[in-house]
Amino acid sequence: MSRSRKPDFHECRGAYRHAWFDHDGSGFGRPEFGVAFHVQCFRCGTVRRDVVSSVDGRLLSRRYYYPEGYAWAEDERPTAAQLRLQALKTQKRNLKETKNMPRIER
Ligand SMILES: [Zn+2]
Repeated sequence: MSRSRKPDFHECRGAYRHAWFDHDGSGFGRPEFGVAFHVQCFRCGTVRRDVVSSVDGRLLSRRYYYPEGYAWAEDERPTAAQLRLQALKTQKRNLKETKNMPRIER
């Protein structure tokens, strides 16, 4: 994770989804069939492992490895609307943190 603050799972669970970058797959081993392709989220650390057919590129399996604390307890799962409201709050905070980034004007 590249940010100094604690991971905010709301961003990844809600409107933004995960922010993937390349992961070398170390520690995951080789698949029985096909070729493994790994990516990791820079915000929360989740790793997604795809196993792809090297013959035709078909996705043979996809699995996510979540960090501790990511999974919802059954009784705390929010609605999609609640996640969007949380995303609005998060964006407001993030925009303060990134106010010196170059802006694209339209
Ligand atoms: Zn994430």
